[in-house]
Amino acid sequence: MGRVLVMLTAAAAVVACSMATVMVRRRMKGRRKWRRVVGILKDLEEACETPLGRLRQMVDAIAVEMQAGLVSEGGSKLKMLLTFVDDLPNGSETGTYYALHLGGSYFRIIKVHLGGQRSSLEVQDVERHSIPTSLMNSTSEVLFDFLASSLQRFIEKEGNDFNLSQPVKRELAFTFSFPVKQTSISSGVLIKWTKGFAISEMAGEDIAECLQGALNKRGLDIRVAALVNDTVGALSFGHFHDPDTIAAVVFGTGSNACYLERTDAIIKCQNPRTTSGSMVVNMEWGNFWSSRLPRTSYDLELDAESMNSNDMGFEKMIGGMYLGDIVRRVILRMSQESDIFGPISSILSTPFVLRTNSVSAMHEDDTSELQEVARILKDLGVSEVPLKVRKLVVKICDVVTRRAARLAAAGIAGILKKVGRDGSGGGRRSDKQIMRRTVVAVEGGLYLNYRMFREYMDEALRDILGEDVAQHVVVKAMEDGSSIGSALLLASSQSVQTIPSV
Ligand code: ADP
Ligand code: MG
Repeated sequence: MGRVLVMLTAAAAVVACSMATVMVRRRMKGRRKWRRVVGILKDLEEACETPLGRLRQMVDAIAVEMQAGLVSEGGSKLKMLLTFVDDLPNGSETGTYYALHLGGSYFRIIKVHLGGQRSSLEVQDVERHSIPTSLMNSTSEVLFDFLASSLQRFIEKEGNDFNLSQPVKRELAFTFSFPVKQTSISSGVLIKWTKGFAISEMAGEDIAECLQGALNKRGLDIRVAALVNDTVGALSFGHFHDPDTIAAVVFGTGSNACYLERTDAIIKCQNPRTTSGSMVVNMEWGNFWSSRLPRTSYDLELDAESMNSNDMGFEKMIGGMYLGDIVRRVILRMSQESDIFGPISSILSTPFVLRTNSVSAMHEDDTSELQEVARILKDLGVSEVPLKVRKLVVKICDVVTRRAARLAAAGIAGILKKVGRDGSGGGRRSDKQIMRRTVVAVEGGLYLNYRMFREYMDEALRDILGEDVAQHVVVKAMEDGSSIGSALLLASSQSVQTIPSV
């Protein structure tokens, strides 16, 4: 009996010992895996670093590239496109106008009525719809007929609102968010598609003519009277409300900026034919590139797999279309190198499955257990991960978005530098008399809806400019600014009222 007991005790000890060994091994393995993902995160943080010194280099690089793009066609990756807009709306416009806005994710139709005073601006109708993905790879005919039919429905809804004795011709601004070489304020040819659009054989086509043709085919009596880049629309809207507005930036699906430049600085344009002495320049800053940009292996992969590789490098780091996919790529890498996310999810391997809306929802999840993060991960095929893994995901969102926001701030500061509003001119930084109030209009779903992006951007801009200068710079958010502003711009470019007031 005694022997049996000894043997049993010994056996139990062996089992306990080997169980402990297994557990220790498991724990060590777990720790190793955890260390591996922490290492991936650390590498990401290092590769995304944007210290003030680097941001200042970006500011200089942007200002230099802007200059190069103004000197000669093709002189820079920044196209610095002429817009033929030399006068911005000021509030005195009158009439009723329409705008159709083709963004990267949405199209919008609006109708505005202007009564000759800022306060009488009336946005009478707004419609916003997602752009069906199938349209992005369709044909020119399909795309423009779709836009024309949407506009037709919008007009038909007005019914007999226009109780007019004479038929009216409606005037429309076409707000377009892809690069166009303008030939006048109402015409221009597509340079290339961006943001996932890939409709072949359209480069070189006149965009306003395409829309006009589709409207005519449907027998709609609407004149496409202005072709307006979305940033220029936002600048017009900003200027309408505040004449100190000199630049506009869009942070939506993609990103771009425009600003008011002196015509004598636009050296590549021999005969700018402006009366105001200045012209709005569409930078197409999404294509900005500098070897100093903090690029990671995830950016390289994203670019290589995109429809427009080696193009739009800046946009791919700051645009709403891409931030979610960068975050997804980091999570995927972690899940490939360790099993902290469980078995590799096939959903997680799908490009663009994680949208930037979800990134902000995870980043701003304020529940103690990060339930929103858990929910979104579950949608990605990753379930039941411990809290510390959920926290890791929030950190990834933070790193990617912070980099984007800080680079965006450097972009804005670059414009301010180019136009001498960054306080560096003349070395009289502390003299408040010479610092003019400067307003930058900002719009786009990323900026408007992602608080952390906004906060990081504002903070970085203050850091770059310094308090003395930053207090004279106002960043003003404006919802639907691009669409409304395009209608305002059309109004200001018309000398006669074409539709009676309703
Ligand atoms: P468009 O680019 O079509 O003009 P928006 O300016 O509304 O449209 O921008 C839409 C983009 O903004 C979305 O594709 C997304 O990337 C980003 N976005 C919208 N809402 C959010 C959000 N809550 N958090 C983060 N990003 C958002
Ligand atoms: Mg937009």
